[in-house]
Amino acid sequence: MVLIYENDPLDNEHARGRFYHVCRGQVDRTELQIPPTDRPHECPRCGIDLEAEDFFVAMQKGSV
Ligand SMILES: [Zn+2]
Repeated sequence: MVLIYENDPLDNEHARGRFYHVCRGQVDRTELQIPPTDRPHECPRCGIDLEAEDFFVAMQKGSV
């Protein structure tokens, strides 16, 4: 698991939900934005590429 999506329906400010990277088994609590499809977000710590598609899958499943 490298990406989680949290959606609190009562949180109007973040109605679209929030993404967090799971870095080496630990949740990084820095909120991520969906990156452009041609420029994946690369984690400087573990080196993984988080692609826009991963975010969309996480949105549907809760995690990737
Ligand atoms: Zn990482």
